[in-house]
Amino acid sequence: PDVHTINNNAPFRRADLDIYSIRKDFPILQTRVNGKSLVWLDNSATTQKPKDVINTLEEYYSKYNSNIHRGAHTLAKISTDAYETAREKIRLFIGASSLEEIIFVRGTTEGINLVTETFGESNIEKGDEIILSIMEHHSNIVPWQKLAKKKGATIKIIPVNECGELILEEYKKLLSPKTKIVAITQLSNILGTINPIKEIIEIAHASEAKVLVDGAQGIAHIGIDVNEVDADFYVFSGHKIYGPTGIGVLYGKKELLQNMPPYQRGGGMIKNVTFDSTEYNSLPYKFEAGTGNIADAIGLGAAIDYVNNIGINRIMAHEAELTNYAMERLSHLPGLSLIGTTPNKSSVISFILSGLSPDQAAHKLNEDGIAVRSGHHCAQPVLKHYGFNSVIRASIGIYNTREEIDILANSLMKMLR
Ligand code: PLP
Repeated sequence: PDVHTINNNAPFRRADLDIYSIRKDFPILQTRVNGKSLVWLDNSATTQKPKDVINTLEEYYSKYNSNIHRGAHTLAKISTDAYETAREKIRLFIGASSLEEIIFVRGTTEGINLVTETFGESNIEKGDEIILSIMEHHSNIVPWQKLAKKKGATIKIIPVNECGELILEEYKKLLSPKTKIVAITQLSNILGTINPIKEIIEIAHASEAKVLVDGAQGIAHIGIDVNEVDADFYVFSGHKIYGPTGIGVLYGKKELLQNMPPYQRGGGMIKNVTFDSTEYNSLPYKFEAGTGNIADAIGLGAAIDYVNNIGINRIMAHEAELTNYAMERLSHLPGLSLIGTTPNKSSVISFILSGLSPDQAAHKLNEDGIAVRSGHHCAQPVLKHYGFNSVIRASIGIYNTREEIDILANSLMKMLR
């Protein structure tokens, strides 16, 4: 199978889904790379966009582009309604109680920085403790480091076991009356581990610590109900859930957001301004200074509609099956070592090959039209823990098929020979 062509019309049903009809919704999947059908297995870095999202962006700019929340004219009203409708779609999708709890940001990274600079600034004091896990993305490490350094607080790290699961007994030992916040990923971008966030939150709350959940990976693969898990903060990026880049969401419990100072200051986030003082706007606008990413917020709403039309449970079932299939296939390749082998994982498959660097392997896969990522994946501490500087990561999305996993496995086998 050196040369492959994916038959986009072949019947293929998994978990009750017609994946080939889903594939037709994503124009980019028709692209050929090096003469081969594109096999997009870089979904943890970013996902491809369905026509609905692309059309929504085009429609916004060609039919009703306007600034929002101001202006008496027709287009301002249409774009404001569309922007606020997107906020409502997101509220429903993540199970939040109130629109005041849904704040548009640029993405996960900005959401976490918002929390460290506002909640952190006003709640963390000298001697306080912040708990992270070893498998965090740099975006959920570096902002906390800056805060801890500034305030004289300490960061403690939850360790992992051999197969990439958090060791909860160790986590319990780290908690103390000094713990102010636990910041933890829902799904590891390198091990694929699905963390038991409900349990982690329950344990933190028993110690009166707050919890921020990094949903960058979790949102598209397992979904979330922020009320059900009782998260204090939840952040995600639109581009990881089939939406545009440059837009994301911070969910925060209303009483926490109300007591936090604003993040940035300027237009939109105020009620009244004089040269002596400023009265801040109500939630969520207090945290949305300046003209936001209107088009992409509306585009994210379209992405949420797309995911809802398929159903997150069916997406989970399809991706769980494909993940298991990929783990099984790759585990039989001599010379390939998998990292992150817990059965409680989804969508992310990381590995190294003997005799080839991750970069060399990724380039060779690219020759076969297969897009994977090699490197440290912005999670250096956990890689280092397992003794690596760099790994290859294949990551699955809603449109991936068994056939594509076979193409990956065959290309790797050819390389290893
Ligand atoms: N957290 C995790 C677990 C991620 O995988 C990523 C992106 O890869 C991020 C945070 C950062 O997301 P963004 O770059 O969209 O802000």
